[in-house]
Amino acid sequence: MIRVTENLRKIRDLLAETAVEAGRRPEDVHLLAVSKKQPIEKIVEAAAAGQRDFGENIVQEGIDKVTKLAEKGLCWHFVGHLQSNKTRPVAEHFDWVHSVDKLKTAKRLSEQRPESLGDLNVCIQINIDEEASKSGVPPSEVADLARAVAGLPRLRLRGLMCLPAFREAFDDQRLPFALTRELAESLARDGIVMDTLSMGMSDDFRAAIMEGATIVRIGTAVFGPRDA
Ligand SMILES: *Cc1c(COP(=O)(O)O)cnc(C)c1O
Repeated sequence: MIRVTENLRKIRDLLAETAVEAGRRPEDVHLLAVSKKQPIEKIVEAAAAGQRDFGENIVQEGIDKVTKLAEKGLCWHFVGHLQSNKTRPVAEHFDWVHSVDKLKTAKRLSEQRPESLGDLNVCIQINIDEEASKSGVPPSEVADLARAVAGLPRLRLRGLMCLPAFREAFDDQRLPFALTRELAESLARDGIVMDTLSMGMSDDFRAAIMEGATIVRIGTAVFGPRDA
């Protein structure tokens, strides 16, 4: 049996340790527990251990969990690829979307966000390694998209998200995260100020924190292997 509570404790310690090593404040690095393909019981265990933020990547599975756990006051993040024809349930149930990569998707989320829920927090997903198989906007198009998204009502543009190609070595892992940080810095110089870098997963979150990650999205290291 996977000990979610124990895993969470270890990861929180590691996040704090790495933040200090990076010369940063531990409270500036937030843990998003990616609960996709994990049973409800493990989310309940994590919530009991004080975890508030959870990430899902499939619309229907996510909505089921948000609805079942509505009383717990958790914060739900959509991290998967979002087709523009599936935005409504996401706009109505989630608190964050990390994976906006098209203006059309952002416009729909903006139109469909119920006013009663407050602004939907969004990040723009960057295809940082420009891989054909991955979604996300190419780095050269980020500025235009960010400017347009920042102007939409009921959305709050929080930052950039990336999902780099696999790299084994720590120093190699840092490169795409550094590029993402530099993109955010260049947007800030152009007046688009954001507070979030959503980057780093189970295998590379230390490298991401060294490069400024404010949200690390960790699944396997918290919950164990996912259901097939
Ligand atoms: C699954 C997933 C994660 C978590 O991956 P792990 O390797 O299990 O930590 C993070 N971000 C996104 C977008 C994911 O889809």
